[in-house]
Amino acid sequence: MDILPIKAFKDNYIWAIIFHKTKQVIIVDPGDATAVLKTIEQMGLQLIAIFITHHHFDHTGGVSQLCKIFPDVKVYGPKLAKISEITHSVTENDSFEINSCIFNVKETPGHTLDHIVFYTQNMLQYPVLFCGDTFFSCGCGRIFEGTATTMVASLEKILTLPKATRIYPAHEYTLANIKFSLLVEPQNRLLQQYFIKTVASTDKNLPTLPVTLANELEVNPFLRCLNNELDLSTIPTNLNLSNKTAVFSFIRKWKDNF
Ligand SMILES: [Zn+2]
Repeated sequence: MDILPIKAFKDNYIWAIIFHKTKQVIIVDPGDATAVLKTIEQMGLQLIAIFITHHHFDHTGGVSQLCKIFPDVKVYGPKLAKISEITHSVTENDSFEINSCIFNVKETPGHTLDHIVFYTQNMLQYPVLFCGDTFFSCGCGRIFEGTATTMVASLEKILTLPKATRIYPAHEYTLANIKFSLLVEPQNRLLQQYFIKTVASTDKNLPTLPVTLANELEVNPFLRCLNNELDLSTIPTNLNLSNKTAVFSFIRKWKDNF
């Protein structure tokens, strides 16, 4: 079993969960059918399920074509999304099983109102989270439909997961996010080291993902402010620094204009 990235558009990753023994694959957020079909054909795979995290076109644009080619595919997506190809609408705390892997759904509104994430503890030796655009390494999703409060509640769900969880975001934003995070926490040594490591991977055109939650707790300012671990020296003192949603909201708006 492997989880491989399929690159699409400028910086999207469409994650492919590959079951080598049965030659089956689950695809997460297929924004582009052509890129997915190329991998499926090259590896001789059968598409058995699609997971959709939210309605944005760069996550769903390939769904209808894939469903035409694989008419038996199961499509798991948010109850709130109006996507006609969804065969299994899922919501908070729903669980379902594919090839003995149990996937658990969490609702994470903020980036969009319909956003969900898929979590499994028994697929690999470590827990795995497919988080769409809710979370990125050293970042979090831009808030398009929710509020800072809803996004904070969503990220707090991610904070409750085991530290060994490997997180698979849908975009390669890591280097730009680290550059921003260094403005927020210039003295963070682990962040400085992460920057050097990420520059090396990016120079070689290697994916910087997945990341562990343990890593993010040390370097991601959006999580660190919720955990009360952020160095607040760059945050204006006229904010109520004990109000973590206010601090989060300030950093989110700072990043929006970065
Ligand atoms: Zn999105």
